[in-house]
Amino acid sequence: MLRGKSEEEVALVRESSLLVGKTLAEVAEMIKPGVTPKELDKRAFEFISDNGAVPGFLNYNGFPNSLCISRNEAVVHGIPDSKPLVDGDILSVDCGVLMNGFFGDSAYTFAVGNVSDEITKLLETTKRSLEKGIEQAIVGNRVGDIGYAVQFEAESNGFGVVRELVGHGLGRELHEPPEVPNFGRRGKGPRLIDGLVIAIEPMINLGKKEVTQLRDGWTIVTADRKPSAHYEHTIVVRRDKAEVLSTFKYIEEKLNVIV
Ligand code: MG
Ligand code: MG
Repeated sequence: MLRGKSEEEVALVRESSLLVGKTLAEVAEMIKPGVTPKELDKRAFEFISDNGAVPGFLNYNGFPNSLCISRNEAVVHGIPDSKPLVDGDILSVDCGVLMNGFFGDSAYTFAVGNVSDEITKLLETTKRSLEKGIEQAIVGNRVGDIGYAVQFEAESNGFGVVRELVGHGLGRELHEPPEVPNFGRRGKGPRLIDGLVIAIEPMINLGKKEVTQLRDGWTIVTADRKPSAHYEHTIVVRRDKAEVLSTFKYIEEKLNVIV
């Protein structure tokens, strides 16, 4: 049985999620050729700590860093390394924070310098698939409605939808029920209730949907080693329209994206 969160609880998730958005913007400002993922991770750790919060991923099941940074063929759960970024890379940066007992969780995929047209299309489609999923996150719909919307948007543009990793509920825990797959059937799965807080996070591959894990025990990469994109928002299910608790506003101000 799923539980909707109280207004007080939602407010705390909103605060944590807002800090995630601001942290991602701090990182966004630094992303350019020559910078290393480790430097981005260090900045995130400092910014989160300076704001009185704790990095949500650090030591989570033994994860060694504050950010998951997944480059090119890495889908998610990449460990920040010391390899400088190069023009044409894409970088998925996933950030969680824990503040006042509640988590926030959000991710954004950045283009480093100039990327190819097909990668631009992958990024735009993945972000749009997240928006389509959020549109379905209303009271009375089911989890499958979200997954169907994400999957339809991605597959109708010719991209592969990762099956092995999914979105999730969150609150006092980083991962709570329900699981929120990026694929599904309309009208199937748990019913969405008012106040349910979930992270919707499409992981969309330029090529085939299959993934594999590297021997570091963390990094998930595409089986065909083609690039993959990942965007994530923490949202709360409401009656007519979900409220998005995390935000890309600060990121996109830094990137001069017209939204
Ligand atoms: Mg995340
Ligand atoms: Mg998540």
